[in-house]
Amino acid sequence: MSFIIENIATIKGRIRAAAEFSGRNSTEIKLLLATKTVSTTNIINALETGETLIGENKVQELKEKFEALKVIPHQTHFIGHLQTNKVKEVTKYADCIQSVDRLELAEKLQKRLEFEDRTIDIFIQVNTSYEESKFGVSPENALIFAQQVKQLDRLNIKGLMTIGLFSVETKKVRKCFQLLKNIQIRMLEKDLTVYDLSMGMSNDLETAIEEGSTIIRVGTAIFGKRPYPDSYYWNDNKETNPQV
Ligand SMILES: *Cc1c(COP(=O)(O)O)cnc(C)c1O
Repeated sequence: MSFIIENIATIKGRIRAAAEFSGRNSTEIKLLLATKTVSTTNIINALETGETLIGENKVQELKEKFEALKVIPHQTHFIGHLQTNKVKEVTKYADCIQSVDRLELAEKLQKRLEFEDRTIDIFIQVNTSYEESKFGVSPENALIFAQQVKQLDRLNIKGLMTIGLFSVETKKVRKCFQLLKNIQIRMLEKDLTVYDLSMGMSNDLETAIEEGSTIIRVGTAIFGKRPYPDSYYWNDNKETNPQV
């Protein structure tokens, strides 16, 4: 699939340009391939370009693709809303969970990992856009939540994740990313190990990089348009909000 190879090269160019623009080194910025709805053939094609990081939104999809993707080394992050009854499966198929956003979920993960006698890397998801339709702990509660998660010794806190506001107004989108950065600074002062900032997608990765992103999550700009609207992946038990 040469279009995938070309698109990845284009994204790499965008990462380099945005890093240069903000005086950052582009090697600080990792590319996560957001592979929801993408076939394993196309994912393998993308990984063959040298990429190593993919993200899935649904436990069912993660599970279905797991065997086929074993042929190529990679890491899988879970980036979708995680229901507590899926905890047992997600720890089987994902290397990292970027969407930890409530204590009940964190405690269930802790319990499961105690049973398995292992640990897992996690990110705390913050709802920086304050949209009802999006998941994530509220910015006001993020610090207390992170301190609670820190008590759970099977969860290795690696960073913070957010989905920026969907808007053509860059200023408003930038605010979300600045907010996550500020939360990170406050947490680092409290010795919370939130070194990575997972923020920025196909349409807003430049803004995210300018505001300090270390992981951008790109789907559409690499694999093309998805067959379902994102509300299908993001709001599975919340009201759908009209996009701003
Ligand atoms: C789908 C998805 C992405 C990628 O979005 P694109 O706009 O297709 O680049 C990033 N993050 C999350 C959490 C997603 O669900």
